[in-house]
Amino acid sequence: MARSFDVVVIGAGPAGYVAAIRCAQLGLRTACIDRWVNEAGEPAPGGTCLNVGCIPSKALLQSSELYVQACEHFSEHGITVNGLSVDLERMQTRKQQVVKQLTDGVASLFKANHIAWLQGTGTVVSGTAVEFCAHANPDRRETLKTNNVILASGSQPIALDAAPIDGERIVDSSGALAFTEVPKRLGIIGAGVIGLELGSVWQRLGSEVVLLEAQDEFLPAADHQIAHEAFKTFSQQKLDIRLGARVVSTQRSKKQVTVNYQHGDEEHQLKVDYLVVAVGRRPYTENLFSPASELLLDERGFVDVDEYCSTNLPGVYAVGDVVRGPMLAHKGSEEGVAVAEYIASGHKHVVNRETIPSVIYTHPEIAWVGATEQELRAKGVAAHAGTFPLTASGRAKAMGATTGMVKILADAGTDRVLGAHIIAPMASELIAELVVAMEFSASSEDLARTIHAHPTLSEVVHEAALAVDGRPIHMVARKRSGPK
Ligand code: FAD
Ligand code: NAD
Repeated sequence: MARSFDVVVIGAGPAGYVAAIRCAQLGLRTACIDRWVNEAGEPAPGGTCLNVGCIPSKALLQSSELYVQACEHFSEHGITVNGLSVDLERMQTRKQQVVKQLTDGVASLFKANHIAWLQGTGTVVSGTAVEFCAHANPDRRETLKTNNVILASGSQPIALDAAPIDGERIVDSSGALAFTEVPKRLGIIGAGVIGLELGSVWQRLGSEVVLLEAQDEFLPAADHQIAHEAFKTFSQQKLDIRLGARVVSTQRSKKQVTVNYQHGDEEHQLKVDYLVVAVGRRPYTENLFSPASELLLDERGFVDVDEYCSTNLPGVYAVGDVVRGPMLAHKGSEEGVAVAEYIASGHKHVVNRETIPSVIYTHPEIAWVGATEQELRAKGVAAHAGTFPLTASGRAKAMGATTGMVKILADAGTDRVLGAHIIAPMASELIAELVVAMEFSASSEDLARTIHAHPTLSEVVHEAALAVDGRPIHMVARKRSGPK
């Protein structure tokens, strides 16, 4: 007899596994199908994020930052270290241990919540009927009965014809997380989030890193003032970011890649030991549905959904990277929760896309939420800007990390916070206060009147809020500024 569930989730990344857990918490009989297999050939839930994305990249960013601290900054504190070196094998083993602990953690949560974790491929065949093909038994196909399906199949790297991935010298982000030697010369195509994070890892460990970015503008989605500050800081860190560089072709020899690129009318050549292609990601829908199901995709290949993540098929929803919106783990998880609650209760709630924070985990980190100054200006929204530099923060000085700033944008009429932009150590943590402020429709005055512990980096947020009204305490007050 066919196995029957209330909900079948396809994909166990942060969108799918969170949706499955929430469904189970709400009493729904839930199955989660996932096809991921790790290096050891074992099924590993967690998708891109846990296996080859958010988590392993942050593990290597942490290790490499500690190395820089030990090499360049311990001596300022009177700490002498002799014979410092990098054991890359150990570093990579630690990274894998962190990943394994977390993927095992998801498997335990599935078990504790009585979720059927089905290891293999799921395909919507018609209506809400899902065909399951197990890893262990690929010749057998089982049709699962269910009233609801949540598609959470994620995304994959965009390939570049001019630089085809060979898995040895020309790699994608997964390859760049798994290098077994520190490249002497590393080329990266794309100076976006992955390019900057992975470029930072290998630069810190000793690589000469060149990033080739097709656009003329650096981080166009970020506030221009922050992007400008970031470009200056990364250049000082010797990340060689070449804007307006269009890769035309690559040639591979045994141990080298030659990259031919154009800058304006000029042709250039770059020789590197390894090349990373990091030019964005695209939705992954292979084997997700049969044509007979008539599931609709949009013109860019995303599963087409409305604001509630409903597809054109009744009872079929889609969440995470496979649908429109930023490709971020926390965005997918929130969509997963919203859909689970809708299925269980019939109560619809929209994920507030205005308050999804973005973070780039460089040093210093970059984080933002809401509108940028240029977006407000383009929309003709009058706003006041309050900025405050880290140089004037006691905590930042004690940490030896004074590069950066906080910028808050508030509506000129109502003072409501419309956006916040940070370049600072732990910007990823600092931004949470501003996300909450925006969720609660706070004004900059609310933040200015909130007590922040001393000495903390969060005082910089407080001072930036005071600066919106031209009254920061630890900086000579300037008249209000901002888009008019
Ligand atoms: P995924 O995590 O891609 O999971 C989809 C799962 O579905 C996979 O396990 C896949 O194998 C499975 N699947 C697909 N099709 C089927 C099928 N037919 N049957 C069964 N299983 C199927 N985001 C952040 O928010 N913060 C970060 O710091 C961050 N860092 C990143 C670093 C890197 C190097 C990369 C590549 C990405 C990073 N991201 C980060 C993005 C983040 O990983 C994604 O936004 C997130 O993983 C998307 O979650 P998802 O559940 O939609 O899809
Ligand atoms: P991205 O969109 O951030 O950056 C890609 C860059 O490549 C862009 O700047 C683009 O202009 C450039 N580019 C595109 N085609 C090019 C070409 N032919 N030559 C040179 N440059 C080219 O994408 P990504 O860095 O690949 O990351 C993919 C996704 O993963 C992103 O959507 C991001 O949200 C997610 N991610 C998030 C985090 C995080 O939240 N910290 C970290 C890593 C990845």
